[in-house]
Amino acid sequence: MEQVLYSDEITAFLRRHHYSRVTPKAALIDMDGTLYDSMKNHTASWHRLMTVAGINCTREEFYLYEGRTGASTINQLIRREWGRDATDEEKERLYKQKTQYFNQLPPVQPMPGAREMVEVLKAVGLERVLVTGSGQNSLLNRISSDFPGLFTEGLRVTSRDVTHGKPHPEPFIRAMQLAHVTPSQSIVVENAPLGVEAGDRAGAFTIGVTTGPIPREEMIKAGAAIVFDSMPEFAAALPVLLLSLLTVTVDK
Ligand code: CA
Repeated sequence: MEQVLYSDEITAFLRRHHYSRVTPKAALIDMDGTLYDSMKNHTASWHRLMTVAGINCTREEFYLYEGRTGASTINQLIRREWGRDATDEEKERLYKQKTQYFNQLPPVQPMPGAREMVEVLKAVGLERVLVTGSGQNSLLNRISSDFPGLFTEGLRVTSRDVTHGKPHPEPFIRAMQLAHVTPSQSIVVENAPLGVEAGDRAGAFTIGVTTGPIPREEMIKAGAAIVFDSMPEFAAALPVLLLSLLTVTVDK
């Protein structure tokens, strides 16, 4: 088995999840920080929102909340600052304001390497499902033009489709149901610890790609089966990784 690239990582994943093998049929792909280089804008608009609302926070902390739904982030900060839950009215009003701040910033660009990554997945016949904690139409509406022919309209899980956002496994479990695949037939592509945790808890071979300031150790701690240091590096490695996934087996 020494000749198979990534066999150590794959074997460790199989043993931890008590699988004999992974047979990828669908890729469940995060949006912000994975398909789009959007986290700088998200953290800037969250920080502006909360500062205006009189809530103490740092811009950096919002990288750690990445993957949560907006309502969950708002509730967490209001609870910390004011010792109570956010009301539904607050959640709705503040998230709307956050979206407005986001839309005032320069338009975000697709993550370099992301399109190549999705093209590899399509070329080898894996179904692609978009799985995001976001409900922001400004980006969701751009998917079909920025990634033409690469995503199917119906294969999408957003904050509007789930009761529990990441790090709960529900978004990825919903995505597996949409694609009619089992956990061991799924791979997850994520850039943030909470998303990685959700993917691993859903039972998928979860790939962490560091595209921002979060160190790779945080991805490993959250349950990433393997971590790549950039999206272009991951896109280049993907054909070999997929082949290795089909090759490596362990006895149960
Ligand atoms: Ca993300």
